[in-house]
Amino acid sequence: MIAVTGASGFIGCGLVSHLAARGLAVVGVDRRPARRDVPGVCRIVADLADPLDDELRRTLASARVVVHLAGRPGARDRSPHIELARHRDNVLTTEHVLAAAGGPVLVASSSSVYGGALGGRPCHEDDPRRPLGGYARSKVRAEDLCTEHRAAGAPASVLRPFTVVGPGQRPDMALDRWLAAAVAGRPIEVFGSLQRTRDITDVGAVVRAIAQLVELAIDGRELPAALNLGTGTARTLDELVAAVVRAIPAHVDVVVTPRRDDDPDHTLADTTRCAATLGWVPSTDLDEVVAAQLGSLRAAAAA
Ligand code: NAD
Repeated sequence: MIAVTGASGFIGCGLVSHLAARGLAVVGVDRRPARRDVPGVCRIVADLADPLDDELRRTLASARVVVHLAGRPGARDRSPHIELARHRDNVLTTEHVLAAAGGPVLVASSSSVYGGALGGRPCHEDDPRRPLGGYARSKVRAEDLCTEHRAAGAPASVLRPFTVVGPGQRPDMALDRWLAAAVAGRPIEVFGSLQRTRDITDVGAVVRAIAQLVELAIDGRELPAALNLGTGTARTLDELVAAVVRAIPAHVDVVVTPRRDDDPDHTLADTTRCAATLGWVPSTDLDEVVAAQLGSLRAAAAA
């Protein structure tokens, strides 16, 4: 059995469906109920920042692999008590999951730990971490817990996804906000400049990569301590806006507003380790993924 935390979230939804479709028994853990049932996926609704109950402890202990995606994403989140919420959801959940897991654990960190690609140079897993804000700092703390776990002889790997896009994306993320604005005839708000760049990664590729890592872990293969999940290609925000306009398709106004200091100008993954570990590197067809995301947004609005 494979345990997936954060199973009701953007990446988790896709991952549990993918693993179940490959014939693996899956237990999805999340404090939110799932939006839809997936055959082959059992659910546990629980807050992993609280002390774990016996059922959850047993589940994590007996899982062949645990994928820990539960967390509080959203680098721009300024809601009240956000630092406490990040500590609970990103740090305490990781501590509890690592303590309970009986086998290998894959922990979702974030590309934000790099603090951006300096001079546009791709970020390598061994680069020094330069977290720029509270979200990135909480992910660094979660990573450090994995390092301690590994040092104690238990297998744990940190995954660093780069800007994940696709159907079901969180509504706070740029592309989802832009699509919702464009559909409603409102301007798209771009922070900083259209020349800023992101390594934009299709959620389908992220799910496929994590599923492959799960299978490698089941086979007893040693996984890297940290692994980037990105494409190695920098896309300007201008390119992403253009893909939105082509998908809508209608005239779309763009307003550029100031960016925040903790929002790096460029992100870019070094994909060398990813290629060596998986034998392939994620790639993103912007038009395809933007159209798919627009389709899912329209379907959700019509439901
Ligand atoms: P998401 O918010 O859609 O999903 C996270 C899920 O975790 C949610 O369903 C939430 O209910 C659950 N959760 C949060 N705190 C919990 C707790 N205390 N107990 C139980 N469940 C809890 O996020 P996502 O976009 O699917 O991201 C998944 C992971 O990947 C997160 O850890 C995120 O930080 C990381 N990540 C995401 C991206 C991205 O672009 N989406 C990029 C880098 C890293």
